Amino acid sequence: MSWITEEIVNGKKEKALNIILPTRGCSYNKCYMCSYSLGIKPEENLLKVIKNELEDRKVKKVKIFTSGSFLDEKEIKFEDQMEIFEYLSNTDIEEVTVETRPEFVDRENLKKLKDTLNKVLEVAIGLESANDYVLEYCINKGFKYKDFLDASEILSSLDIKIKAYVFLKPLFLTEYESIIDAVNTCEKIEGIVDSVSINPMAIHKKTLAEYFWQKGEYKLPWIWSLLYVLNEVSDLDFYVISHPVALGKRRGIHNCGKCDRDIGKLIAEYSLKNRKIDYYHECKEEWEKILKREW
Ligand code: SF4
Ligand SMILES: [Zn+2]
Repeated sequence: MSWITEEIVNGKKEKALNIILPTRGCSYNKCYMCSYSLGIKPEENLLKVIKNELEDRKVKKVKIFTSGSFLDEKEIKFEDQMEIFEYLSNTDIEEVTVETRPEFVDRENLKKLKDTLNKVLEVAIGLESANDYVLEYCINKGFKYKDFLDASEILSSLDIKIKAYVFLKPLFLTEYESIIDAVNTCEKIEGIVDSVSINPMAIHKKTLAEYFWQKGEYKLPWIWSLLYVLNEVSDLDFYVISHPVALGKRRGIHNCGKCDRDIGKLIAEYSLKNRKIDYYHECKEEWEKILKREW
């Protein structure tokens, strides 16, 4: 499966190909909000999948998702990772992004991969929060902030770009607390990462998040909260994007329903320019009331 997005590559707006590689999925697979690995049919020949998806597409960037970690050898054997990078090194692509959990960031392997690719390499890590309490009790992430820092150090030393996913509104945090946690996380990783993607909760099937949401004990975040976070972090020294899954839908971040689409467009624009969003709709007052109650 693949789709095209617009991204900034080498300072210019370019097309990027996003590919989901059918591996066996995340070998950790315990985060409370995630069921990416559900129902995947793993493919043997992953290089063939990449070749097919890339065929005749004029893109400058490729982002490879695996519903887990590209660098996890249980998902993709190291020789297959190398084979994919070797192939990409002979294309017009200028930048490649892969995702991983921090424990799979291995200096030796990454050096070989980076040298083979010989292009800009970006490694994205789902940090979610820089608060160990939130990582453990609200997300069940299975690693600590320090693990992210250790992985980042290796990546920086190899001149590999770092992207962090920061989560908005995990289980067991109020709307207000989740805003503060996302902003604090961004402030903490300034100077460490090159870019940040703010990812608000979307309800996946068969997760603990779905269980609490169905019982009415978890409320999805307002888009106002995302807007607030994006505006707060826009001046930090990294590039910020947000492509919320299911924005405006029942299982995704939403406002009143009337302003969701308009704000969705503004967020897409923000992701290219990082300029503060100025927008008002009457439902903002209800959001403000909720925050004041939670203060
Ligand atoms: S969020 Fe990432 S690390 Fe957590 S279970 Fe899903 S794929 Fe694995
Ligand atoms: Zn509204």
